[in-house]
Amino acid sequence: MAAGGSLSAFRLPPLPTIREIIKLFRLHAAKQLSQNFLLDLRLTDKIVRKAGTLTNAYVYEVGPGPGGITRSILNAGVAELLVVEKDSRFLPGLQGRTRCGMCRSDGRYMLSFCETTKLFTRQLYRVTFPPVVLESSSCCTCLLTLAPGKLRIVHGDVLTFKIERAFPESLKRHWEDDPPNVHIIGNLPFSVSTPLIIKWLENVSRRDGPFAYGRTQMTLTFQKEVAERLTATTGSKQRSRLSIMAQYLCSVQHVLTIPGRAFVPKPEVDVGVVRFTPLTQPRIEQPFQLVEKVVQNVFQFRRKYCHRGLGMLFPEAQRVESTGKLLQLADVDPTLRPSQLSVSHFKSLCDVYRKMCDEDPHLFAYNFREELKQNKSKNQEKEGEESYRLQLPP
Ligand code: SAM
Repeated sequence: MAAGGSLSAFRLPPLPTIREIIKLFRLHAAKQLSQNFLLDLRLTDKIVRKAGTLTNAYVYEVGPGPGGITRSILNAGVAELLVVEKDSRFLPGLQGRTRCGMCRSDGRYMLSFCETTKLFTRQLYRVTFPPVVLESSSCCTCLLTLAPGKLRIVHGDVLTFKIERAFPESLKRHWEDDPPNVHIIGNLPFSVSTPLIIKWLENVSRRDGPFAYGRTQMTLTFQKEVAERLTATTGSKQRSRLSIMAQYLCSVQHVLTIPGRAFVPKPEVDVGVVRFTPLTQPRIEQPFQLVEKVVQNVFQFRRKYCHRGLGMLFPEAQRVESTGKLLQLADVDPTLRPSQLSVSHFKSLCDVYRKMCDEDPHLFAYNFREELKQNKSKNQEKEGEESYRLQLPP
């Protein structure tokens, strides 16, 4: 409410666009942080809609940058939005330091946006602010009028930030219940997207980190090729380690493809939006590291029959015999290619491998690369000795 009149009675200047924010704060994209910005708010709205209903939700946004997706999330009626951004250049654009001079609100984040808007209002629209004092708790034109007091900004690294203590305990749900009203959303930096999703999948398997709240849902962007790998079905060309690791723990859907030209600067590839909902019951009930070891070994020889990669789980001396035993007990055809193996095939392989590890305590620690390295240095030593002997006078 304005003094003596309703807020809607004033024609307020529009919020600066994300493109204007970038210009004002001189936020050129930093390649080393994989910065590709989304400036079209219709697109950011579309991504956010793919996360489902966010009314009263607690949302964790990864890498808000200049704040495009942030705006769309705030517009969706969330209870709280926590953003974690590594690049300090974006912070002034996201947070203010003092109260807004234009209204009575004491929101902590108002000033810079009001300042931004004032500047832009003057520069771009050549109008000044209406000389009114607003009675509502919102500021006339700043970004945070969208949801005063609901945005929390953290300058940090998503790879180390601990979200499990950030939201109220009361949000926690039992794993078997419906997902909690907690969501992770982000236009991920390409450079961290794969390590980050592997880390979060491990958290799903342990039900900790963001999944301490229950089956927290995630809506995230990846290079289109990575999105296709995450969701690839048995037998498809894109089937890979990521497909199995994601699909044994989550229901995974490729919900949207965004052309590279929608980003600034334009990346060389298109982008896929993927939605993850952790399963109530993982499709493989073995420790994450064990599943990862089996899957990694199989896919390292992706064009060969699966027995080739599986063989690398065993020391050379027992390789043929143990691989045969593993495949036979798991009832898996050794001549299937890695991409032809379903999650149930991997379940059987992991279950049998686990039994074999229980019988031989050294087996899980076995690493064929180390054995190769040791054999190589032994051979070099031997060759050295022989050539030395050859040089000696008879
Ligand atoms: N969300 C913005 C958008 O859609 O326009 C920016 C997306 S940009 C692809 C990725 C953002 O993540 C950048 O703002 C970048 O600074 C940030 N970022 C990169 N690495 C990060 C990390 N390890 N932790 C937190 N933020 C990171």
